[in-house]
Amino acid sequence: MRKLFVAGNWKMNLDLKASCALASALKAQVGNVDDVTIAVCPPFVYLKAVADALAGSKIAVGGQNMWTEPDGAYTGEVSGPMLRDVGCTYVIVGHSERRHVIGEQDAVINTKVHKALGFGLKPILCVGEKLEHRQAGKTEDIVSGQVRAGLKGVTQQQMALITVAYEPVWAIGTGQNATPAQAQEVHALIRRLAAGLYDRKTADGLVIQYGGSVKAENAGELMSQPDVDGALVGGASLGAAKFLPIIQAARNKK
Ligand code: PEP
Repeated sequence: MRKLFVAGNWKMNLDLKASCALASALKAQVGNVDDVTIAVCPPFVYLKAVADALAGSKIAVGGQNMWTEPDGAYTGEVSGPMLRDVGCTYVIVGHSERRHVIGEQDAVINTKVHKALGFGLKPILCVGEKLEHRQAGKTEDIVSGQVRAGLKGVTQQQMALITVAYEPVWAIGTGQNATPAQAQEVHALIRRLAAGLYDRKTADGLVIQYGGSVKAENAGELMSQPDVDGALVGGASLGAAKFLPIIQAARNKK
């Protein structure tokens, strides 16, 4: 059975004090949990403080993005080695806000996946269709294309380090989550795709998170689906009272 993985994407929210307070609250409540993988992804400038606040716990820290090069003249960017240096284990790659607000394309996302692996980070590769794609019946095409492009050149061995997050764009931050059946359909598609690209064993081991308006009220039902292996959580990860029940829902999955 795959180990469920719940990650909080804090986006550009909280301040230093609130970030550390949230990290401390999570450490106190679920710092020893090891039946579910837990990670938080604070803004870059709070990573070190959050990693320090979580030290000694099993809660991992991740970056929300990274640049492809290790160092150099890339004003405003942050590199994979820098993320490692401040305690990150994970990095989110290809989040829909990077794809659709900042304009990242599949090719750079694929480069980031490879570079992250090379820098010793575990990528969380985000994929998901826009509402117009879903309405036009193109969900499968879009998601398959993003998965194929994002994983291009990734070896079977490296797949053990990859998490895929299915995040329908229309569900992110809207309060309108995918139904459990909609999520399951796309998660099963991603797993079939992984089986085709690699093999059954690799596909069975791939952790696929769902993201998009996950909250305490819907987390259990979403994660009860056979191919939903956890959640990437935005808004509901910004407070311990909202985030902890989502972690508990993952722990409850049998
Ligand atoms: C996200 O940021 O990846 C996300 C899914 O946000 P929200 O949970 O707020 O929809």
